[in-house]
Amino acid sequence: MSNRTYICVDCRTTKRAEAAGGLKTNLRCSSCGGPLWELSHRWRIPKKADRKSWEELAKTVAQSRPARDAFVLARAKSKLAEIDRQIEAFSSRKPSEQREKILKDLAHERSQVLRQYLDSGIQLDTNPQA
Ligand SMILES: [Zn+2]
Repeated sequence: MSNRTYICVDCRTTKRAEAAGGLKTNLRCSSCGGPLWELSHRWRIPKKADRKSWEELAKTVAQSRPARDAFVLARAKSKLAEIDRQIEAFSSRKPSEQREKILKDLAHERSQVLRQYLDSGIQLDTNPQA
């Protein structure tokens, strides 16, 4: 995975870390200990003393939040739908050891996706088990 810049607009701190794709991370601001915002684009990071630019950036972050949340939710739903489609396809096959293994793997993958998104506070109105 590629690296991204994470920022705290309150403290004007930055951190480089592996991309999380908008999901919640354990990364914390080195100054206030608060959560960091993952920059999805190659936004210009203002100099620390440039208060006005940081205020602009804070506004952009606040404006981006609903779209980011909607994007992450849509991606989660499409991932789950794809896993469910595969589960359905394999379920209708003749029983075999391989089928059982694939179904087990898919169920595991599904619960991992669910956990990952629930941990990020994303509400998914789906059944926990297919
Ligand atoms: Zn901070």
